[in-house]
Amino acid sequence: MWLNRRLILVFTYQDGSKSLNVLAIYKQIAYYVLLFVLSVVLFLSTVLYIFETQITRNKTQIKILRAEFLKSSKTHTRLSKEVQGYVEDLLLAGERVNDLENIVGVENDNQEDKTPLSARLDVASITGAQKSFIMRFIPNDNPLESYKRISAEFSRRFHPILHRMQNHTGVDLSTPIDTPVYASANGVVGFAGNGWNGGYGRLIKLYHPFGFKTYYAHLHKIVVKDGEFVKKGQLIAYSGSSGMSTGPHLHYEVRFMDKPINPIFFIKWNMRNFDFIFTQERNIAWPSLLTTINKLLTGLPPSSPKVLNSKAK
Ligand SMILES: [Zn+2]
Repeated sequence: MWLNRRLILVFTYQDGSKSLNVLAIYKQIAYYVLLFVLSVVLFLSTVLYIFETQITRNKTQIKILRAEFLKSSKTHTRLSKEVQGYVEDLLLAGERVNDLENIVGVENDNQEDKTPLSARLDVASITGAQKSFIMRFIPNDNPLESYKRISAEFSRRFHPILHRMQNHTGVDLSTPIDTPVYASANGVVGFAGNGWNGGYGRLIKLYHPFGFKTYYAHLHKIVVKDGEFVKKGQLIAYSGSSGMSTGPHLHYEVRFMDKPINPIFFIKWNMRNFDFIFTQERNIAWPSLLTTINKLLTGLPPSSPKVLNSKAK
């Protein structure tokens, strides 16, 4: 090795000479350089080690945070479900309040209730007494013993005499003159008139409980009077062709809250197919009506009157 060799410079002066070992100086410089490089490497290693430790620590923290995030997500989902449950409970409670409001006579603005009726109405639990009550007080069955055919349905139709489109607010039951006409439910005669009556001709209007009315039009002879109480199945008139009529028939209407509804469901409704009307006729809040009737029959008041300003006492 060249390091082990010796390179000696000899300087000669007038008064003597001086020698200089050049390789020894290089050796010393190399030693310092090596020391410096080692220091740098050590420093870099330390720095790298610190960084690596930091990265590992960060990774661990990320793992913990991710786990916490997942846990929070699950909690959030659970809470969302709980909130949904509460919302549903509130809606249900609201519906019950609506029913109560119907019972105490507060008008229900929500006519768009799309909850399936079967979910709210337990028809199977209606007792025989309740059924018999309902069939006496709510219009049902045929007001005639029989009819030949339905000559005009409840619909928008071309009027045969007026020659224009208009709503047909009842059904026309084709039957010979002087066919007996019977009350389709208990009620009171709200109107019995022999005039033209806006084309109805001889007309009877029966007022029944719970907002129902029935109209019997184009009659030949009326056998009841204004204000008279009638029972289900009682003879009230004989059919005819009076008023605006093209032939012998009974024009029969069922109204709820003064609004004509399709009478055909009520005509087809009787004790044997008791459930029928609840699925066919959607204009009536049957659950609240049945609740009211149930409370009437069990002797309870339909509702306790609200006590206002009870704290003021
Ligand atoms: Zn008619």
